[in-house]
Amino acid sequence: MSILVVGSVAFDTIETKHGSREKCLGGAATYFALAASFFTDVRVIAVVGQDFTTENEEVFKRRGIDTHGIERSHGHSFHWSGSYLQDLNEAQTLKTELNVFQHFNPKIPKAYMDSEYLFLANIDPVLQLRVRQQMPNVKLVCGDTMNYWITGHLANLEEVLRELDVLLINDKEARMLGGTDNLMRAATRVQEMGPSAVVVKHGEYGATAFFTRSIFTTGTHATEMFHSPALPLSDVVDPTGAGDSFAGGFYGYIASQPELTPDVFKRAMFYGGVMGSFCVEQFGTERVQSLTRADIDQRFKTFEELSHFA
Ligand code: AMP
Repeated sequence: MSILVVGSVAFDTIETKHGSREKCLGGAATYFALAASFFTDVRVIAVVGQDFTTENEEVFKRRGIDTHGIERSHGHSFHWSGSYLQDLNEAQTLKTELNVFQHFNPKIPKAYMDSEYLFLANIDPVLQLRVRQQMPNVKLVCGDTMNYWITGHLANLEEVLRELDVLLINDKEARMLGGTDNLMRAATRVQEMGPSAVVVKHGEYGATAFFTRSIFTTGTHATEMFHSPALPLSDVVDPTGAGDSFAGGFYGYIASQPELTPDVFKRAMFYGGVMGSFCVEQFGTERVQSLTRADIDQRFKTFEELSHFA
């Protein structure tokens, strides 16, 4: 099974209380692809500038990720600059430079057309929609977004939401999009905008899914909610990419399974937590680059122990 992901491939400048990094490889599609690559085949649609090196591309290739859909353009790659000095759970965006993404017109390579799963990672909703329209026959569409697009590009985002089966979104942004402080009511309102399932990420406090049972291909579930934990860590070095790594583990696991049952969905939430927990242990993509499948399996067991009581 293959996942096609469109989203930012970027350079990030990050500061946390553990130090800082200048223009390290990042971007929502990058974190997503690296995490999902441990579970299934991944193909990327994005645009980068002349500053994107062969070494940067090797990071994807070493994980077997298909990079044919990463277009090279004149100019600089997307650049995001963020700080976690005030709050470790929420990035303070210092700068967003769209650069080559401003004039990007995504073209999907022929070889990508048989992808069964589509992930619309965080990027301009106009681009998310263009990719969605070129992939009408996918089995499942999952997407992500952030405050930058909710506040400034809501009408376009609403068009994307109508196309989604699953929306992954962080806690604060779910309340912002749903127009209420109450999380459950916010999630219900977001579901009314399109997605059958809304997975709300709470950073160090785990994630909660709100769903209608029609999301499952077989099986049913007693409640229309599910909560998964996050792993308490003694050191969070850099939270950048945790949400996208969660998405990669979550969706990668779903794509690796023959059916979307309630059990698969719940395990996927745990795998999301596992990948997010690794991501924050080092700066940028460093930790995920050195991961092995054995590390993932071991941490999944820890997650099971964390919340098992029978
Ligand atoms: P997160 O998983 O939420 O920590 O996502 C962090 C990644 O999102 C960083 O690597 C950034 O390059 C990327 N990013 C930040 N702002 C935007 C934006 N407005 N659109 C797309 N990607 C972004």
